[in-house]
Amino acid sequence: MKTIFEKIRDKEIPSYMLYEDDLVMSFLDISQATKGHCLVVSKESYKDVLETPDHVLSHMMVVGKKIAEAIRVALNPKGFNFLSNVGEIAGQTVFHVHLHVIPRYVKDDVTFSFHENTSEKDFDDLLTSITKALS
Ligand code: AMP
Repeated sequence: MKTIFEKIRDKEIPSYMLYEDDLVMSFLDISQATKGHCLVVSKESYKDVLETPDHVLSHMMVVGKKIAEAIRVALNPKGFNFLSNVGEIAGQTVFHVHLHVIPRYVKDDVTFSFHENTSEKDFDDLLTSITKALS
């Protein structure tokens, strides 16, 4: 079964398409987190960032930058979040890789929470396990 983004790619359902090339497309997110919220989506269907070939992934970021520059001119936001959810637990609802480009304004409703109570030992353990996995 096709993903919703494959249906958009194949023009089977409508979208607010902003940009397309051979590898990616970008359109307005149907649920606007903030004014101008866009998605950059691969044309081929890969489940998420971790399943996506590097050349597609890097092109998604380049196009995300291009879209953000246009949003900056058009809407004058004060910043952006570039975000890609991996897995249901992280909030992924469409299992076809995409990058959210979310313009940020002085008064908007978007919140992320970060925790500052990680101990020195926790950081050391994290460093050890992730560095080991990287090598
Ligand atoms: P995620 O939750 O990270 O998987 O993001 C999926 C995003 O796709 C959500 O922000 C949805 O609002 C968006 N979305 C779902 N269907 C459509 C659609 N038909 N057109 C545009 N955006 C969509």
